[in-house]
Amino acid sequence: ERKQLHRLRREPSRTLDGVDIKLWANAESREDVTGAHALGAAGVGLYRTEFLFLQRSELPDEEEQFRAYRDVVLAMTGRTVTIRTMDIGADKADRTGLAQADEPNPALGLRGVRLSLARMDVFRTQLRAMLRASGYGPLRVLVPMVSGREEVLAVSALVREVAAELRAEGREVAEHVPVGAMIEVPAAAIALSGFIDDVDFVSIGTNDLTQYLLAADRGNDALGELYSPLHPALARLLQSVIRTARARGKPVAVCGEMAGDPALTPMLLALGLEEFSLHPGMLLEVRQAIRAQDLGALRAAAPSLLRCRDRAAMERWLRRHARPAH
Ligand code: PEP
Ligand code: MG
Repeated sequence: ERKQLHRLRREPSRTLDGVDIKLWANAESREDVTGAHALGAAGVGLYRTEFLFLQRSELPDEEEQFRAYRDVVLAMTGRTVTIRTMDIGADKADRTGLAQADEPNPALGLRGVRLSLARMDVFRTQLRAMLRASGYGPLRVLVPMVSGREEVLAVSALVREVAAELRAEGREVAEHVPVGAMIEVPAAAIALSGFIDDVDFVSIGTNDLTQYLLAADRGNDALGELYSPLHPALARLLQSVIRTARARGKPVAVCGEMAGDPALTPMLLALGLEEFSLHPGMLLEVRQAIRAQDLGALRAAAPSLLRCRDRAAMERWLRRHARPAH
């Protein structure tokens, strides 16, 4: 079994009917990045930068961040690296004083892009470091916790400004650095058609999207199965986001834990997804699940998935469309 999986390292993530699915890696450490490269990931689809800010009392300066981002870009040898701007909030153990420690509702508070835009000095430093790293290989900027168009426009303007500033200093910056939005706030998912033309790509953060859509804390075990990707509302919302992005020719990935669960692969494929970003430890399992599927047949089964009325029906659909590895 393990040996068979191991063989898939050099095989394409291609469905039986010949469609190539893009498998990106989620990464936050050196090991993740080298692992992703060795397993044939298309690139890094989500590089979480929070680790640079947590468990320390002083903020990382531009130089430290630049070296960290540049090293990921270099390690991926020409494959695209998607770096997420800091997703800090009172929910994370931040000791730099960036986040407001006593927020009543951290998940609904000043986190992600909201905090970045409130702390322009810190945000500019991070964007400078990222854009400098873009001179070493293909890099994309991903913005977390976007709730609407205003934030996307504000970040894009800032990226253009910082790029111009760096070039004026004589530093090398890629000609085009794509800027994308995480879709993880339900409002952003619903209103996406209003700002899809203002982003270069989107990545669906199903961990938070599920939490906010179902009003179910992603870290509260007492909620049991309430926090689950198998709610019919999530399937419908995912289909809508994927359709909206694809209709305008914008790349769309799922980068939440769902993307790394091979049991859910048929569902995501049926909903039209062609890019997954997942923990490298699950990459071969998901590749195997993709290779066992006929995409045309799954797409044809999307209406029956969207007709599911509860979790039990969703589970039956998944069992019906599970395919043994071969
Ligand atoms: C998500 O919310 O799905 C996600 C990928 O980001 P994080 O888990 O870091 O919030
Ligand atoms: Mg998130």
